[in-house]
Amino acid sequence: MIKVTVWNEYLEELQYEHVAKVYPNGIHECIREFLEKDPEIQVRCVTLRMEDQGLSDEILNDTDVLIWWGHQAHDEVTEENVQRVKQHVLDGMGLIALHSAHYSNPMKELLGTSMCVRWKHGEREKLVCVAPSHPIAEGITEPVILEKEEMYGEYFDIPKPDDVIFTGWFSCGEVFRSGCTFHSGYGKIFYFQPGHEEYPVYYIPEVQKIIKNAAFLAMTPEKCETFLKKEVKEVTLP
Ligand code: ZN
Repeated sequence: MIKVTVWNEYLEELQYEHVAKVYPNGIHECIREFLEKDPEIQVRCVTLRMEDQGLSDEILNDTDVLIWWGHQAHDEVTEENVQRVKQHVLDGMGLIALHSAHYSNPMKELLGTSMCVRWKHGEREKLVCVAPSHPIAEGITEPVILEKEEMYGEYFDIPKPDDVIFTGWFSCGEVFRSGCTFHSGYGKIFYFQPGHEEYPVYYIPEVQKIIKNAAFLAMTPEKCETFLKKEVKEVTLP
């Protein structure tokens, strides 16, 4: 059983009618719905405006994998909460950063680069798997077409990923490293570019499958705090 917490800013869905039409209950509830179809996944949703911004130790201690969607309010997440998320990842909590969450403060803190991209709205994207044997690509045999998506373009200022699993090719000609894995401390991190709030990207079965695969992969069997705090014992080499 994996305990997944979906954290969403949940602002645009409340502010803009055209976004609410796509995600009437918020992006987080859409993600919950498809993840919970798997009996091995237990989902909790939290949002920015909740108590403790939904990021208390109580919640994070009970989270194997945190999925993060944020866009306009990255700087509203308190420094205390950013550091708390970072520490939990270092201790072994998985982190899946979706779309504009590349620019969230926990991602910047964990990866240590500016995370800058170039962007343009209203493009068509062909999402091509470039690492078919990777567990996150399991079941994705053909390129995935996103009829409307926001283009993110290189250069994407990230550290060298552990793996690049998907490359996005956009109708305007740009390309992007759309699905990348990293690790920080004991935590596994997956960045996945699709998911601009104006387009119904999280209803696409292949996109759902990729996020679900990533949730299983990002889980560390037990959080590793105990390993980090282990005392060094003297050993005698043979
Ligand atoms: Zn966007």
